[in-house]
Amino acid sequence: MLEAKAIHKVYNNGTKQIHVLKGVDLNIEEGKFVVILGPSGAGKSTLLHILGGLDSPTKGRVIFQGLDIYGLADEAISEVRNTKIGFVFQFYHLLSEFTVLENALMPALINAKTGKTQNTKPEEKALELLKQVGLSARITHFPSQLSAGERQRVALVRGLINHPGLLLCDEPTGNLDSETGKEIISLIKKISQQNRMTVVLVTHNTELAKMADSVYHLRDGVLVN
Ligand code: ADP
Ligand code: MG
Repeated sequence: MLEAKAIHKVYNNGTKQIHVLKGVDLNIEEGKFVVILGPSGAGKSTLLHILGGLDSPTKGRVIFQGLDIYGLADEAISEVRNTKIGFVFQFYHLLSEFTVLENALMPALINAKTGKTQNTKPEEKALELLKQVGLSARITHFPSQLSAGERQRVALVRGLINHPGLLLCDEPTGNLDSETGKEIISLIKKISQQNRMTVVLVTHNTELAKMADSVYHLRDGVLVN
């Protein structure tokens, strides 16, 4: 369902060039839970952004559900990303002025605005997911009133609200203690299995590899087993 072919990424920092990805190949089957390990600075976030249509590769192709996504116009890439891919980040990126429920609904509201929604009852869906992650009593709270683990659970619900086929997670436990981190990972695993969702999770935490169907290492700009 997701394939990367000879992905290269070069960043230009003024006069200096950093060649972060040097030919990444990856082939992920539908419904799998894939973990990509690598130390800080290895290029994990860069790769995840490229896989999710957030940042284009310098060279190479990403085929998602049969679509060569960087062969599409920018608008079409955004549509794929907004309707078919969910993201969870290390620092949640919740909007502080909005409640838990509003934050969870944000991607659905964005799609409703552009007329691209398949989700006819996003609020019901949000409430159901918030219940599943144990946040039913928190829906009118603001992010500042939540613990780190609760914030990440809201971010997870937001990532799932459009029922994406693919969930991309960038160090989702990086800001959590190990117990809370484990809870988040179990929730991701449980919900993705129930919904036949594919998950790609990048992390420096080798512990998380235990949860995966397949594990890759990002080393010197390439993926190895
Ligand atoms: P990781 O997520 O594994 O820690 P990143 O993908 O964030 O690694 O970064 C890999 C390398 O690319 C680092 O050296 C980082 O400084 C550099 N880098 C990341 N993003 C940019 C950018 N937007 N511009 C320039 N260099 C960047
Ligand atoms: Mg990173």
